[in-house]
Amino acid sequence: MRIFKGIAASEGLAKGKALVHHHASMEAEKQHILSDGVAGELEKFRTALASAKRLLEEHNTKDIAKDSREILETHMLMLEDPDYIQQIEDYIRTNLVCSQWAVDSVTTNMVNLLEATDDELLRERAIDFRDVSLHLIDAIKGKGERRMEHLDEDVVLIADALMPSELFSMDKTHILGISLDGGGRASHVAILVRAFNIPTVLATNGASKTVHDGEEVIVDGTYGEVFIRPDHTVSQMLDERFNLWQEHEVELHKMVELPTNTTDGHSVLLKANIQTTSEVDAAKACGASGIGLFRSEFLFMESLENPSEERQFTVYRQVLEAMAPKPVTIRTIDIGGDKMVSGLGIDEKNPILGWRAVRFCLSRKDIFTVQLRALLRASVYGKLQVMFPMISGVEELNAVLHLFEHVKDECRRESIPFDPDIKVGTMIEVPSAALCADILAKKVDFFSIGTNDLIQYTIAVDRGNEKIAYLYQPFHPGVLRSIRMIIQMAHQNQIPVSLCGEMASDPLCSVLLAGMGLDELSMGSQSLLQVRKILRSVSYEEAKSLADHVLGMDSYLTITTYIREWMHDRFDHFTTI
Ligand code: PEP
Ligand code: MG
Repeated sequence: MRIFKGIAASEGLAKGKALVHHHASMEAEKQHILSDGVAGELEKFRTALASAKRLLEEHNTKDIAKDSREILETHMLMLEDPDYIQQIEDYIRTNLVCSQWAVDSVTTNMVNLLEATDDELLRERAIDFRDVSLHLIDAIKGKGERRMEHLDEDVVLIADALMPSELFSMDKTHILGISLDGGGRASHVAILVRAFNIPTVLATNGASKTVHDGEEVIVDGTYGEVFIRPDHTVSQMLDERFNLWQEHEVELHKMVELPTNTTDGHSVLLKANIQTTSEVDAAKACGASGIGLFRSEFLFMESLENPSEERQFTVYRQVLEAMAPKPVTIRTIDIGGDKMVSGLGIDEKNPILGWRAVRFCLSRKDIFTVQLRALLRASVYGKLQVMFPMISGVEELNAVLHLFEHVKDECRRESIPFDPDIKVGTMIEVPSAALCADILAKKVDFFSIGTNDLIQYTIAVDRGNEKIAYLYQPFHPGVLRSIRMIIQMAHQNQIPVSLCGEMASDPLCSVLLAGMGLDELSMGSQSLLQVRKILRSVSYEEAKSLADHVLGMDSYLTITTYIREWMHDRFDHFTTI
């Protein structure tokens, strides 16, 4: 038996047979071959070509928008282009390299030529060629997620790494639990596994290297442990753990109908974060006061083509209707960073600081306006609030607000009805926005603090990198001061302020955040009842003095220790980050 300790990322226990997955990078790898390997490599290339075509054909038979169908058909023609195929095959023969390297090199040459022309149409074709080559490289590598799109039996996935888009396309009905060698608790993969309720341990530092397909494994997402080939005693001990955990869940369920009021009557709204429509039921089932964050970019990961205005309208309407009359805050697409979507030409050297969220949207207004129109059309079906991600200053905020007004004018001209009172807010997740919160507060109806990114950018620590996870500290005085300042600036300008990062779901943070004066906390539905239970057992006066006290401390270590002890004195059971 081997035991790996990691980060407890999503609660619960999963027992079953391992399915080992090694993440295929999107980039081509270079390998030289011998001349007698050429035939084999050509064969591999042709098989990949056929499988990439099959995949496109499958997508083309689905009910998709006209413009998406046109893109698929263009890609299909490229995969059948005899000139392109010939060049790749010649490259393999002449340079004696593997097929994925040949595809990458030939495509890069073509892309460079096309991009150097003055013809806009040809330059757009360059993006299509790059996209097609990624499908081909994917097919050559026999990308792991393909085998996980349809699973015949239940498995526990043991992987080195996963992209959010990979997790999306997997057959999650058969994935009992997940163990990843890397990752951080605030990474998007972690957020998704919690949303999908898959017990998960991150940062095991090598579990995937010691296990083979079919071997018995247990993932304990509550305690952050992975057991490879567990013995009988450990299995029994874990069964007991599991029973205790279930009893705790039953206890929490009693909180569903109750309001989130402190013992002295102060109310904090608890809302749910969702990524897909399938999570709306869970949000309602835990008694959420609305949706505080709908990460709309995940709609763009569902399929190869961008969702049409009609598709987006249908999804937004569905969520608004299901939650009505409670409010739904839909965040405009936050693509980029660790949420890559193929086919959009986002290929960044430094994606976290790069072309993402509103930066992407403002330069791809064609995509952004489609979303804004869909949102406006859907607004008459419930209580919509719109929120913009990654705003770094007033110019960006002015630009998105201006565009939103422009799209509203367009709708008026076309007699498309929409709610004239849609509340508009901005996320505060970039330090410059936090420092200018007083300026931004005058332009919007509400703030929502995105601590996942605010911590990342304030401490300059990649939220998904397990090597520096020790630096990712929500209780860093720099982070707490920043949150306090944002709340003060919002309230001085009479606007409410929510917090929708993973801190909101951490029971260890709940009392502190309420005491700092947040009006709302928005989190994954699975944490909401635990946070409600905690807030219902303390007074607002106590929470405020806890906040005042720790804001006078000088290090995250002192603050963490102090809060841990404070919570232990009052509660016998709670789980922490
Ligand atoms: C955040 O940054 O805190 C946030 C809620 O947005 P995301 O996690 O999607 O970046
Ligand atoms: Mg963010």
